[in-house]
Formats: sequence, structure tokens, C-alpha cells
Amino acid sequence: MATEKQVERGPDEFSCEQCGSLLEFQPGTGMLVCGHCGFETPVPESNEEIEELDFHERLASLESGEDLEEVITISCPSCGAEFERDANLSSEECPFCGTTIVAEGGSHKQIKPRSLLPFKVERDRARALFRQWVSKLWFAPNDFKQRARLDTTLSGMYVPHWTYDASVTTQYTGQRGVYYYVPVSTGKGTTMVRRTWWTPVSGVVDNEFDDILVLASHSLPRTYMEKLEPWGLSDLVPFQNEYMSGFRAESYQVGLEQGFSEARRHMDRPIRQTIRYHIGGDEQIIQWMHSEFDDITFKHILLPVWISAYRYRNKPFRFLINARTGEVQGERPWSWIKIASAVAGAAAVLAAVVGAIQLAD
Ligand SMILES: [Zn+2]
Ligand SMILES: [Zn+2]
Repeated sequence: MATEKQVERGPDEFSCEQCGSLLEFQPGTGMLVCGHCGFETPVPESNEEIEELDFHERLASLESGEDLEEVITISCPSCGAEFERDANLSSEECPFCGTTIVAEGGSHKQIKPRSLLPFKVERDRARALFRQWVSKLWFAPNDFKQRARLDTTLSGMYVPHWTYDASVTTQYTGQRGVYYYVPVSTGKGTTMVRRTWWTPVSGVVDNEFDDILVLASHSLPRTYMEKLEPWGLSDLVPFQNEYMSGFRAESYQVGLEQGFSEARRHMDRPIRQTIRYHIGGDEQIIQWMHSEFDDITFKHILLPVWISAYRYRNKPFRFLINARTGEVQGERPWSWIKIASAVAGAAAVLAAVVGAIQLAD
């Protein structure tokens, strides 16, 4: 464990002008609100531009450590998530996997997020969505269902992402297949049968990519996070501490370079589609391709998610809400006792029915 150092960003500096309590960002309003006396003040307008940063330049400067910020985090021994700690708690459940963690200070340096989407879905609505989702689950363990009624189970978390832009030039070689038909005699006459005429082809295609989104966290199930899309990235606002007040941020675990490898995987399918279109014909085979990536830029952004994590039989189950759109995704536990008793019940009913039929005979 690293030693505790100075935090550079944190929500603690926002105290109420009237009573000194903490002001928290009120989702969907653009206001900071005092939970104690109700005082409100707008988040100041930022006229900072949301820039795309040069990828190679930043990779080089990462080594020198400039433009990094130091954050005090707590890390989960179970799922590896690292997130800003709640200074008021000495132990808490990991918002990502439900493991109880004893708060121990750690800190590390990371690239500063420059923009984010502020929370829009309020806690009350998030809780209602969670309850609704849970109430529709069959064969879920009782304590899981009870949990949905508790107020403390939802954490408002900013989840780190990268977005990448790039101009991609791809050379390829392949085959173009064109259909033609030949008469083939069968016992009853002739039928036309489809054949494919293959010609070798090669060429160069260009693709422009804008805001390829990559999840920079390992602590949340990627498939569920992807299903929370779209986010509406055109609504990103410059990063300001005010938006963090009352919420926490996870630190990224997927670095800038590793994130780009992931982005390249996202680019692969559209590049292949462009090549197929370029080849033309009725069928296409791509035998070889080589891409050059130019003008790579990136943004480090934070996206707002309501999370509830629950452990059942030592496995984490996560419930997630896109705190912009209210889109809900969740993993669910199954209670085998309930399933077994339902099966036993059904068998008993069947036995009774069979018995009744036999009696009727
Ligand atoms: Zn106040
Ligand atoms: Zn965890």
C-alpha cells in the first residue's frame, strides 16, 4: 500500500455560505444544493474548451509526469477497483463488487479528466428504477430483494473512459467474387446453378473515426457498460470539481495506450466494411490489410453511473443505471433454494394431478 499524500481534487471545498454544510451537485439542475438549509448556488459556467489532446505527444509527456494529478484512493482487494474514498467512513462496501473494505489510504498519479457528463438522473429516480428492476426478478434470493429497499445501496460513481479520434489509411489485398449461372443437366432437364468468379484485387481505403469510446475500468462488466450506451457525448462539459460534490470518481485502470489498442479493435469492423464496399462484387474476401493511424487524439472523460453491487455466494452481482438516460442493466443472482422448491412444488402438483387422473379411472 502506498502512503497517504495530498489530494488535489476533492469535493470537500464546497461549503454552504449560510450554514457551512457541504454543498452537493443536484443531478439534472446545474446547481449545488445544501442538504442542511436548502441554500442553492449555480455551478459557475466554464468557458474552457473541451480539447482533443494529441495521443503521441501525451504518451511522451506521461513519462515526464507533467499534467498528472495525484488522487487519494481506496482500492478493493477483491475486484481491483480504485476510487476516491469517502472521508467519513472507516470501512465501506466496494461500490463495484460489494466486498467490505477497511479504508486504508493510497494515492497515485493519473491523467486529469478534462470533461464529463454531469449526473442527470436523481438518486430517488435511480432507487425507483432499481426497485422496479428487482421486483420483476423471479427466483432471486430474499436478502437481495430486501437490499433494494435500503437507501444506502446505490453509489453515484463517475466511471472513467477514453475517447479516441483517428484518420486511418488501410491498404488491402483480397478477392472479388461475382456470381454467374451455368446450366446443369439433371435427370428431369436442366437447371441454372450459381457459381462465383473470383478476381484478385487490392486497394487503399480511408476512414475517419470520431469519439470511439473505451471503458477505462476493469471493475464493471464491459458487456453491461456497453449496453448503457449511447451517452450523448456531444453534451460533455469541461471538468469542474462542483460536479463531483456528492459523487465519487473511479480511477482508470486501462491506460492511455492500452485504451487505444481497444479502440483499434472497435475500428476493425468499420474498416473491414469499407474494404468490402471498395472491393465490390457479390462476395468479398480480405486476405491482408495494414492500417496507418494518423492524427490520433484523445479525451479522458468521466461518465455518471448509479451502481449497486451485491455479493451472493462470494460472487459479485452489479446493477447499473446510465445516470444521463436512465437506461438500466443488471446481473442477477438466482436462489437455488427457491428454484428447487418451485420444482419440487411443480412435481408435487403433477403427482397430485396424475394421482387424481388414476383415481378417476
Ligand atoms: Zn446550508
Ligand atoms: Zn470491489
